[in-house]
Formats: sequence, C-alpha cells, structure tokens
Amino acid sequence: MQRIQVNRSSTCPTILLIYTGGTIGMKRDEESGALVPFDFSGIYEEFPSIKRLHVNIDVYTMPKLIDSSNVQPSDWCDIAEVIRDHYESYAGFVILHGTDTMSYTASALSFMLENLAKPVVFTGSQIPIGVLRTDGRENLITAIEVASAQIDGKPMVPEVSLLFHSRLLRGNRTHKGSAEELDAFRSPNYPSLAEVGVKMVYNQAAISRPREECSELQIATMLSEGVAVIKLFPGIGEYTLRAILAVEGLRGVVLETYGAGNAPTSEWFLELMRQTVERGVVVMNVTQCENGSVEMQLYETGQRLEAAGVLSAYDMTTEAAITKLMYVLGKNLPKDETLHLLKTPLRGEFTL
Ligand code: ASP
Repeated sequence: MQRIQVNRSSTCPTILLIYTGGTIGMKRDEESGALVPFDFSGIYEEFPSIKRLHVNIDVYTMPKLIDSSNVQPSDWCDIAEVIRDHYESYAGFVILHGTDTMSYTASALSFMLENLAKPVVFTGSQIPIGVLRTDGRENLITAIEVASAQIDGKPMVPEVSLLFHSRLLRGNRTHKGSAEELDAFRSPNYPSLAEVGVKMVYNQAAISRPREECSELQIATMLSEGVAVIKLFPGIGEYTLRAILAVEGLRGVVLETYGAGNAPTSEWFLELMRQTVERGVVVMNVTQCENGSVEMQLYETGQRLEAAGVLSAYDMTTEAAITKLMYVLGKNLPKDETLHLLKTPLRGEFTL
C-alpha cells in the first residue's frame, strides 16, 4: 500500500486521509476528457486553501480504488487495518468513499473499531472533485476540520461519523436518501452531531465519548457470512420466503416490516418465523418506514412476531442492522451472549 506524506508542522494536528475510490476522487483527464481517479497526494496543489486549516495531512491510497458498489466486507477489514496500523500516529482519520455504500461501510466500521477514541470521518461527493461545481471540495475540507477538531485537548468527535453537505451525522445512523441531491444523506432517527453553516455548530449532547478507562483500539475482522435482508410486501409468496429462509448457512435475517414492526398474522408466516428462529437463525425486525421505531407490543401483528422469537431492532437503519449482525455473529458467542449484544446499543446505533 502506498503512503504519501504531504506536509508536516509540529504545531498542527496530523490526520490520515484514506482514499478508497468513488466519485469524490474523479477528475477530468485533460487529454481524453474522461473522468479518471485524482491523485490525492497532490491535494495542496489542487486546493491551496486547505493549508489554511492548519492541519497536516497524510494520504493513504488503497491499492485498488473502487466504485463503492463493489465494496465487500473484506474492504471494511482493509480500512480497519489501516486505521489500526496508524492509530497512534494520527489525531483523526478521514475516509474518502463512494456514496452508494458509504452508510454500510460507516456502520460496519463503527462496530469493528472497538474502543475507538479518535474521529473517523467518512465523506464523499455527488459531483467529482475535478468538476467545477463539485460538492467534494467543501465536504473534504469540512471532514478534515472535523477529524482534527479538539475540545479541552481531546478529540471533538471521537466516533465514526459521516460528513455530507451541511451535516455531520453518526455513521451508523445514516442512509443514502437521494441519488441526486447534494444533501444526499439522512439520519432519520438521530440528530446531527454538527450543523455546518457559517459556523460549525457541534451538538455536544449527541456526540458519544469513550469512557475514561477506555482500553486500546481493537479491530474485529471476523464478520459473519449468511446474513440476508427480506422486505415484506403484500403478496410475498410462501414458497419464495421458504426458499430464502431454507438457504444453507443462513445465520441472520433483517426483516423489513411495516409501520411499527408489523407483519402478517397468517399461520404459515408465523410458523415459518418460529421454525427459522428455532433453527438458530437470528431474525431482526426493522421498519420499512423512513423514520420511527419498531414497537412490537403496539399491535397484535407485532406481538405475534415477537412471540415467534423475532428481535426488535428498534430504530436502527437496515444498514446498521445488517452490519451489526455480521459483527456480532462473527464473534461466534453462545446464544445468550449473542442475543445480549444484539439487544444492547453498542455504538449508539439505536435508541431504546
Ligand atoms: N458509484 C459511486 C460510488 O459509490 C457513486 C459515488 O461515489 O457518489 O462509488
């Protein structure tokens, strides 16, 4: 892997910019006119104004730059390893990532980086950085500012966050909500960690801080396979559902239900859920609604699902529920410990 040191001044904090690919890294090639990956080691020449941030920036380019639609859990592990290997040397980390799966990567990393006490800020852009009207320049500059910001000599935002347009959001609460708007990311059930306007206004009460006795950073790279998402819809076929749930190696299911966590009460459906849970598959209930929480006690349709052994994911995003299942099941713990971790907010991913 390539690591380029761009600048260093002992009086400024130093952050590591990890470039993984995506639209933000694209620039028009002057000869061919095609969009090609931008070399972030030339960041100061391209954006001299970055020097005014008084932050030293090292650039770490991942060996294979990818469109984030191609991201796999192994890429999350690679990013986690880069952070672990450079953790002590940097005040914070900025991850440049394609927007399409950025919420999945940010959610996954929030779980995988255990005992994190430094900022890890994801950002990207809807318009390539080399295009005049890019949103990438502002996103990049603000992400660098967040990653290096301090309060009382400690990192201002010591958790995995996602900076986009005018908001800093908790990574595992995000969802890409627009394919076109520059304000593309939503945090449906959790307030912004900061609002980016004329001033950066941090929402101190919403930012999670490590415990005083926080131990060393550990990374969890054993992520479970065999996780599936099933979105309910009126008319979902019994045979289709049976076939999905019968798949070999299935360990966890994120069931996207209606409203406050409701599902059909037909006997075949509930019986299938019961059998699936009895087989040892974890089924987590996430709402299809844009915001709000699962409350299985509210209606009979939810109560029956709970009685079948389905767990509430409360107000978690599907992205967070999938990656949390991969992380928790990857630990291969006894059943009661697995369920305990799934029912406990580990990184502020849901509100009880
Ligand atoms: N397809 C691109 C990606 O996710 C889109 C983007 O970066 O905005 O890598």
